[in-house]
This record gives sequence, C-alpha cells and structure tokens, in this order.
Amino acid sequence: MAFARKKNKDSDAVVAPEAVMTTPEPALVSGSSAATSTMPMSSSNGSLPGAPSPKAPASGASNKRLGEQLIGSRLITAEQLEAALAAQSASGERLGETLVRQGVLTEQALAHALAAFFGFDVANLRRDNVDPATLTLVPENVAREYMAVPIRMNGAQLEVAVAEPSEDLRLALSQLVGRPVSLRIAPLSDIRWAIDSHYQAIGTVGKLVQAFESVEGSRRRAADTAVEEAPVGDDAPVVQVVDRILTQAMRDRASDVHIEPSEGVVRVRYRIDGALKEILTLPAAIGPGLVSRIKIMANMNIVERRRPQDGQLTIMIDGTEVDVRVATAATIMGESCVMRILDKTRSVLRLNDLGMPKDTHLAYSKMVRSPFGMVICAGPTGSGKTTTLYATLSEVSNPTLNVMTIEDPVEYVFPSINQIQTNDQAGITFATGLKSILRQDPDVILVGEIRDVETTRVAVQSALTGHFVVSSLHATDSVSALHRFLDMGIESFMIASSVLGVVGQRLLRRICPSCKASYTPTPEELDFYHDGGGTLSTGFFQGTGCNFCSHTGYKDRIGVYELLIMTPELRRLVVGWATQEELRSMAVRQGMRTMRQEAIGLVDQGITTIEEVIRSMYTL
Ligand SMILES: [Zn+2]
Repeated sequence: MAFARKKNKDSDAVVAPEAVMTTPEPALVSGSSAATSTMPMSSSNGSLPGAPSPKAPASGASNKRLGEQLIGSRLITAEQLEAALAAQSASGERLGETLVRQGVLTEQALAHALAAFFGFDVANLRRDNVDPATLTLVPENVAREYMAVPIRMNGAQLEVAVAEPSEDLRLALSQLVGRPVSLRIAPLSDIRWAIDSHYQAIGTVGKLVQAFESVEGSRRRAADTAVEEAPVGDDAPVVQVVDRILTQAMRDRASDVHIEPSEGVVRVRYRIDGALKEILTLPAAIGPGLVSRIKIMANMNIVERRRPQDGQLTIMIDGTEVDVRVATAATIMGESCVMRILDKTRSVLRLNDLGMPKDTHLAYSKMVRSPFGMVICAGPTGSGKTTTLYATLSEVSNPTLNVMTIEDPVEYVFPSINQIQTNDQAGITFATGLKSILRQDPDVILVGEIRDVETTRVAVQSALTGHFVVSSLHATDSVSALHRFLDMGIESFMIASSVLGVVGQRLLRRICPSCKASYTPTPEELDFYHDGGGTLSTGFFQGTGCNFCSHTGYKDRIGVYELLIMTPELRRLVVGWATQEELRSMAVRQGMRTMRQEAIGLVDQGITTIEEVIRSMYTL
C-alpha cells in the first residue's frame, strides 16, 4: 500500500548515524563522558557534570561504570550485572536494554539510573505536555529513526527526550534540527508512545480535506454533468485520508473503525479497549468518497449502495501486514462503514496467559483435554471469547489430532490446523461447514460461534459421537448459556450429556498505572460492591486521566472468568429444566466463583474500578 513505512527496530533506534559514529558502541560510550567544555551547548546547561574527555575509552569500561553505579544504588546485584554483560556482548545491544529485557530493571528505574549516570533530567512524558510548536522542528521520520521526542524550547535550546543518551546522538539531532539541543531521558516505551500520539497520522487530514473540497468545487463548477466516480490515484486526498485513518487506528490500538454519516458531517470513531471514541468529524461531502475508496480496497461492489456488503482487505501499516474486515450498511444518512482490524502479528495467547486464576486455569485445561464432549465460552460481544477459543486450540492441538475449525472470520492462521471460513455467497454457514468437517475425520472441532438451532444440533451430535467440540455462545454467563440451549429446543438430556463445562467471561479495563490514585466511590457503587461480596470500605483506586491513557483513566484490559463444570448433580438439574437460579446456586455450592465475585476481587487488588465492573456486568 501507498503508505507502508519501514518500521524502526528497537535495536537501532537510538544509535547515532554512521557519519558521526566515533566508537563501535556510541550510545553508552561517548555519552558517559558528557563533557562540558568542548561542546557548544553545555556551557548553558548547568545540569551537565564536568566529565573526562569527549573521546570515551572502550565501551567495556563505560558499561562497567554504569554497572557499578547500578550496583551502588542497589538496583542490581553483581551477579545480575555479570550475566547482563555476558548477554550484552553476545547480542550487541546496550547494557540498559539487556537489563530491562532480562527483567532485572524496569524501564522507569533504568531511565532514572541513566539520568543519574549521565547527569541529565528525567522527562515525564506521561504527565508533562509536549509543546506542539516544537513538533514541527523535528520531523516524524527523524523522531522515529532516533527515538527522540522534542519537548519544549528552553531559551535557544530544544529539549529532546531520548531513551539512551549519547553525545553523538545529541550532536546528530542538533545538526538535523539546525539548533542547539539538550537531552532529557525517558523510558523507551514512553518515547515510542509519545511519538505515536503526537505525530498523529490524522494530524494532516484537515489539509487533505481542504484539497478534496477545492478539487470537488472546481469539478462541480467545470461540469454540471454527473461526474460519477472519477479515477483516483494513490495520492488523491480521499485515498490518503483512508490510509491515515487506518494508520492512526493501529497506533491507537483500536479494534474497530466506524465511519458514520450523520447530520451534515461524517463521524470517524475508534473502538479502543472496548469503548468507542470519536476521533474525527469530516465534512459530509467526503463521506461517499471515503466509503467508495474502502469498498474498492476490499473488492466490494461500489455501485451497490443500498444493500449491506462485506469484504476484506490487506494493508501494510507501519511495516506490519494487517487484515481489515469491512462491512457497509445504508443508513438514512448515507452509507456507513465499519472496519474490524485483525492484527496478524498479535501472537495467540496460551491458556496460562489469559489471566485465569491458577485453580480455574488448571480445571479448565483438564476439561479441554477430554477426548470428546463440548466446551462453551459464553459472553457478550467483545468479551474475549475468540481469544479464549484460540488459546484453547493451541493448548489441545498436537500432531496426533486432526483439528478443524469453521470461523467467521478466520482471525488467526494456525500452521497445523485446518481452518474454514464461512462464506454466505458460497453457501458455507456454520451449520453446513460443520457438516463438511464431520466428513473429514476430525478429532477436535472449533465452531467459531453457535447462533442457530441447526448448528447447535450438529455440534451437540458431534460432541456425543466421539469429537471434542469447542465453541462460543452469546450469553450473559455460564448458566444462561445452558438455558439458551434449552430455549433453542435442544433436548435437555442431550445438553446434559454433551456439555463438559461452560466458561463465562468479560474483559474489564485496567486502571491506567500512570495516573492511578485513591478515591471514594459513590454510595451506589459501594452498594453494588458490598452486594457482590466486597469487604473493603476504603482503599479504592481509579485513574484520574493522563496523556498515557488518552485521559480515560484506563489502559489495557484483563479477563474475568467463571468456570461451570458439569457434575452429575448439575446434569440432573439440566435434565429436569431447573431454573437459572437453581443451577447457579448448585454450581456455586460446588465451588464455582462467579464473574462478579472475580471482578470484585480485581477491585480489591486495585486493578480495576467498581464503575468498570458495573459497566461490564450489565452489558450484553
Ligand atoms: Zn492515565
């Protein structure tokens, strides 16, 4: 695609260019001797300590000094330093980087240690704002190549935050921006985040929209005849706007992009950590062009504007290949479009990465090793069911088994699993796909989602005839999933004998670690918390909002699970059409912890808020 860009590897991110390299390992070597007298900037920067000569000795000596400093401040032990030095001389990365990778030091601790070592200040990019005017001084490609973020002007000097400073790096930046530069230190991940959020791909959309409007205006003036779809080149404004919207979506970790025509404008919204956020409003006139462009990319029929359509496209974003699933629908305001971003580089989680408590994880992984029967994941849309299904598959898959899937869509490609994607046009539904799988001698079958009676019947039959079936169901919790089957008209004894267990789940947003602070919940929140078995009366936390979490107070998510395991007692209750309450109280008596209990446990640990638990428990 037009805007594919080379991704910087971390390893070369802060290394000064060859032109100014004076030693084999510039990052730590010359920086360690951040001298004052011989350098243009230093006289005005009082924080720079007097230091030896600008020509540093061997890198080993410099590493050793940094290492000794770290030991001296009790951040690492002598043994850890030795191990890190050995690994570092083999890999060629910087000492600090090695220590972080080995889990010896956190990035924050490393930043403070480097700051003390070099005599620089630490920049808090999470709290302090970058002066937007300085962003124009350092172009985005320079910022990414050097992993350097401009912060503000300090007199004539431009303050720039970097992860691992060196004099070569400072000089190189100084040359590139054409003015004196002084360095400050920040953790590498903060720098990467700051670059992604400040150099917004959508930042230049305004100009593109203007260009679009002037072209449209002149075209309309030139000819009142219907100019339907003029051919558009790669540099056409609409094409670039679509590219920028998708690029920004990836950088913001969005799972979905919504392009929605509404009164006089087109809204662009991203779904991030499960919640929609408005990103852009564009003039209404550009809406049809945007949707047409996306439809062309996704091989959809651009003349058809009334019927809903589905399509898929593959695009390179920041050096990563990304699959995007497109769905359009005609609203009364015009054609709207939703894009689901499927990042193929995301690795599939293993079961023990899902965040299940140890006992739940053990019980679940024992259950999914059963040779036949059915396991169901239950939850609303966006509760992480697909992740659990995939983790389950990678747990049970082995060369002695034929593992087959029917999915809508295939979100991750396993090397040794036979995956089928539903295709309405070709007549492949979950039910027909599942029937064709059964003729392929399968051992393990994944049915992406059970939505209809026919699929349910075939799945139950397969589970009863010697296959292990795992699937997901849209239901509030484990018990209501069993009742969904009963309501579909599946015989109760069939359900009782085929289902091994149901895992109900939700994803809760985690409190942002950068702005976490204690607070007093509202009386309503406290009521909910105590009703759910919570015992605290103080010591609650929330995020106050900061740059790092787009001022939402939340960053990333964590799963909560309730695992209902079919026991003889529960089977009898299911056969007898017991109510949901009867089933639930029996399951709890037999040791099931409900999602609500688990979520309240996360509140007690300061991982999430009561407000977030309430929001997630009442969604379906
Ligand atoms: Zn925050």
